[in-house]
Amino acid sequence: MTHEIAVIPGDGIGQEVTPAAVSVLEALETVDFEFVEAAAGDAVKAETGEALPQETRDIAADADATLFGAAGETAADVILPLRDVVGSFANVRPARSYPGLDAVQPDTDIVFIRENTEGVYSGIENEIVDGVRTLTRVVTEDASRDIAEFGFDYAKQNGYDDVTIAHKANVMRETDGLFLETAEAVAAERGADYDTALMDALAMHLVMTPEEYDVVICPNLAGDMLSDLAAGLVGGLGLLPSANVGEENALFEPVHGSAPDIAGEGIANPSAMVLSAAMLLDHLGYDEEAGRVRDAVEAVLESGPRTPDLGGDASTEAVTAAIVDEL
Ligand code: ATP
Ligand code: MG
Repeated sequence: MTHEIAVIPGDGIGQEVTPAAVSVLEALETVDFEFVEAAAGDAVKAETGEALPQETRDIAADADATLFGAAGETAADVILPLRDVVGSFANVRPARSYPGLDAVQPDTDIVFIRENTEGVYSGIENEIVDGVRTLTRVVTEDASRDIAEFGFDYAKQNGYDDVTIAHKANVMRETDGLFLETAEAVAAERGADYDTALMDALAMHLVMTPEEYDVVICPNLAGDMLSDLAAGLVGGLGLLPSANVGEENALFEPVHGSAPDIAGEGIANPSAMVLSAAMLLDHLGYDEEAGRVRDAVEAVLESGPRTPDLGGDASTEAVTAAIVDEL
C-alpha cells in the first residue's frame, strides 16, 4: 500500500528541514510513500498573491497526511486554514528531554493534548465602542468531548499512566466548567484515573516537578502556553514535533517557525521535523518504524553530530545523514 503524503516546506528553514524528514521516511524500506510537494507561505504569496493556493489545499485534503515545514509572515494565513483542511481538532505536542543534552529539567516526558478549534482562539473579537474591545470565548460540549476522548485514548495507547485535565473552572465557571465536567464524564465512562489541575498552578508544578506529569489535556490557549513552557524545560525549539489530528486526516509540523535568523545557512536542527515525521508514522499505524526513527534521532542527539543550536557545528545535512545511517 502506497501512502500519499503532501509535503509543504513553506518558508525559511522549512525549506531545509522538510527535505530532511522526507529523506528519513524514504530510508524506511518497509513503508511506501508517494510525496506530493505543494507551495505555501511568503514566497508563493509574493509570486501569486495567495499564501495558501487552492491547489495546495486540494493536495493536503486528498493526501493521507501532510508534512508542513514553516511559514514566515503569512503563518496565520497558512497554518490555521490548513488545520481546517485536514479537519484537525487535536494538537498533540510531546515535550521530552533526551539523554546527553543539557536541559533545565532532564527528566521530562509530557504530551500536551491541546483543544485546537475554540476557546479564546474562537476568533470572535469586537470593538464595542472606542477603547473597549471584547473576545467571546466559545466552549462546546462536542469539542470538549472530542479532545477528552482523544486524550484518554492517547494515554492508553501510548502507555502513559497519568492524565491531567487542565482548567480554570473556578473562575471561568461556565466555559471551563463545561470543559472540565465533560472531560470528567469521559474519564468516568472509560473507568480511567485522572487528576485535575488549575492551569496557573500547573504552570508552576510543570517547572518544578515535570516528572509527575504524563498526558495533559488542555483548553486551546492553555495548551499553547504550557507546551511552550515545557519546550523551554527540555532544550529548545529545534527538538519539538507536533501533530494536528483530525478524524481522517492529519498534519505534522515542528513547533518552531521559519527561523529567518538562520534560514539559508544550512544549519537548522532537523530533529523537530524528523520527529514530526515519526508522529506521522504513528498516525499511519507504523509503530515499529516510528520507534526506529525516534531511536535514530535519540542516538544522534546523544553522540552524533550536532547543529549550532545544540552547541555543535554540524550542518542540517550532516545530522540528517547521521540519522539515516542510524536507521
Ligand atoms: P516565525 O515567525 O516563523 O515563527 P521566529 O523568528 O519566531 O520565526 P522561530 O522559528 O520561532 O523563529 O525560532 C525562534 C528561535 O529559535 C530563532 O532564533 C531560531 O533560530 C531558533 N530555532 C528555531 N527552530 C530551530 C531549528 N530547527 N534549529 C535551530 N534553531 C532553531
Ligand atoms: Mg516563532
